[in-house]
Amino acid sequence: NTTQSRKQKPVLKFSNQPRSAADVIARREIIKRQRESLPIASVKERLVQEVKNHDILIIVGETGSGKTTQLPQFLFNAGFCPDGKVIGITQPRRVAAVTVAKRVAEECGVELGQKVGYSIRFDDNTSSSTRIKYMTDGLLLREALLDPYLSRYSVIIVDEAHERTVHTDVLLGLLKNVQRARVKSVNDHVIVNNKKASNSITNENGKGAECTTLLKQCQRKFPPLKLIIMSASLDARLFSEYFGGARAVHVEGRQHHVDVFYTLHAETDYVDAALITIFQIHLEEGPGDILVFLTGQEEIEGVERLVQEQLQKLPEERKKLLTVPIFSSLPSEKQMRVFMPAPAGYRKVILATNIAETSVTIPGIKFVIDPGFVKARSYDPVKGMESLIIIPTSKAQALQRSGRAGREGPGKCFRLYPESEFEKLEDSTKPEIKRCNLSNVILQLKALGIDDIIGFDFLEKPSRAAIQKSLEQLFLLGALTDDCKLSDPVGHQMARLPLDPIYSKALILASQFNCLEEMLIAVSMLSVESIFYNPREKSAEAKTAKKCFASPDGDHLTLINVYRAADELLQKRRMELSTEKNEKNIKGKNEKIVRKWCKENFINSRSLKHACDIHSQIRGHVEQMGLPISSCGDDTLQFRRCLAASFFLNAALKQPEGTYRALASGQVVQIHPTSVLHQSKLECVIFDELVQTSQKYIRNTTRIDYLWLTELAPHYYAMQG
Ligand code: ADP
Ligand code: MG
Repeated sequence: NTTQSRKQKPVLKFSNQPRSAADVIARREIIKRQRESLPIASVKERLVQEVKNHDILIIVGETGSGKTTQLPQFLFNAGFCPDGKVIGITQPRRVAAVTVAKRVAEECGVELGQKVGYSIRFDDNTSSSTRIKYMTDGLLLREALLDPYLSRYSVIIVDEAHERTVHTDVLLGLLKNVQRARVKSVNDHVIVNNKKASNSITNENGKGAECTTLLKQCQRKFPPLKLIIMSASLDARLFSEYFGGARAVHVEGRQHHVDVFYTLHAETDYVDAALITIFQIHLEEGPGDILVFLTGQEEIEGVERLVQEQLQKLPEERKKLLTVPIFSSLPSEKQMRVFMPAPAGYRKVILATNIAETSVTIPGIKFVIDPGFVKARSYDPVKGMESLIIIPTSKAQALQRSGRAGREGPGKCFRLYPESEFEKLEDSTKPEIKRCNLSNVILQLKALGIDDIIGFDFLEKPSRAAIQKSLEQLFLLGALTDDCKLSDPVGHQMARLPLDPIYSKALILASQFNCLEEMLIAVSMLSVESIFYNPREKSAEAKTAKKCFASPDGDHLTLINVYRAADELLQKRRMELSTEKNEKNIKGKNEKIVRKWCKENFINSRSLKHACDIHSQIRGHVEQMGLPISSCGDDTLQFRRCLAASFFLNAALKQPEGTYRALASGQVVQIHPTSVLHQSKLECVIFDELVQTSQKYIRNTTRIDYLWLTELAPHYYAMQG
């Protein structure tokens, strides 16, 4: 009955989970055919041979040619994992590491986490049988702290090197050292054992034979590290030169013609323009999925809602449009939805961050909508200010984006800006290392024993000013000694925690301020995106719900209140379910209850879940470090004093005209509208981050007393006068 079906929101179930044995066989057949038709398949033997012949190899190939998913399998099958060694593949993005690992596990017909696995910060899905391991570039850097020779790996593939994330750049320098160190350790071994051999064997011939076997034994123990750098764009020369003229090979891709359209005039609101374009395509163009490039989670969720709203106004037969978001903090089971074909008759609109530019290749795209913006980190070393800003893409990015429309056939790309604007774009994106705060990376390099940061062999050197500013910050946080060495124990402890140096410092101090329990929660909640869910159409209700958690002291304590309320709910449930024996049942029931509670309270349940996972992991680190975990109870003053003592570089003071002045940088800022302190007129606050959108905002703020700064951070504030 039609009235009923109209009332019901169309809930779509994907039918692509294989159900019967025949389904499974059919799916395997499809995958096999897909793999065989990838451009990289035809050059498999040649590539394997190149890797055998060269310890460093640069591979450049069109996005979607099969580099990331296929090459590790080729190498595995060609015997590149002797004695349980692992092939590691780094990705700049978490989403790419996870989705690709899932795909490759399926292609190999194995369970994820067995032969094929992934490891990203706070989420390790590998086991002792893992041989093909996808991970983020940042994670491999961390592994180097524990195992400087990266001895578990026989091959390391640095993928998406053109993205030039700061982690990739530093990793390249580090891997160069690792490779050298491994060769050296083989030689040293041979020399040592040679001496032993010459003492025991007098016969000259016997000695020669013994040496060869020794060398072989040593090489088996420390095989040379094979290093492969993969990139989508054509800047092989930069990488090749960096690695002393290393060999570079190109993998031909397939690219169909893409018609590019520009707007006639500049658009004032690109979100609105994107929305109009989505419906223009949906209503006027033939079949094919749409890929829209947006700048972040909130924007994506906003557009998703707007599309749904618009859809409600269309007649039934035109409603067959399905939105699928993809961004880094989306839970991984949801991320996989972008790869599933839309049900028959439906068109899929993928709302993506620039993750879909080169990191993940989504099949079925015929139309690309490119507003021409990207969210990027920007750092001003003079002011020591880092901000996330939305900036125009580069020409190279615009070309990559339009290319996504022509992978399977001719496509169309709609750039939401006039053609004259395209000419004004930068040719390529500035590497991140030149526009980010280097404190984190420097801390890690120091922990690796690399003390001369300015002399480090960077692919492209960051400015001296940026290095100095970060060193200064680390010094102010107590991580470095007067002669710029890692301090003991604080510097070493900070380097061990997989967190921003300020967060690490806050945790270490919190154990002294007796509020480590609170700080663990605060840091975990700050590490995820948007805990509060604020849909436009229910904005007033969401606000009221948030009031129940709001602390007059600020956002940190508000976040703690949310976490504790959810935790209390679970404790109560645990009592109620004490008779239930089946762990799985309990877990399932609890998750349902929490989700319901989140919905009622306008809390983002997936962000909360993520925060809980992070919490248990950092708690583990902190326990291992032996820091006493205690709670300050109702004495939140201790907690706020601890925030002042650790976030003193992020303090802001009220100005007569009602704005705030960030003390370290002198910037005039405002408290972000989402903060519980937005309307209050407090004298002094600390903040978590400074973001610049239309205005300069400070986000996640907490009230402190100005005098605490001189008391708790005298080395900084007494100096400032
Ligand atoms: P490259 O690294 O050269 O850009 P990839 O190896 O990532 O190429 O992709 C090769 C092919 O595998 C593409 O056609 C892509 O659509 C497909 N693919 C990758 N991941 C998945 C997935 N999770 N599900 C389905 N197809 C996938
Ligand atoms: Mg790839």
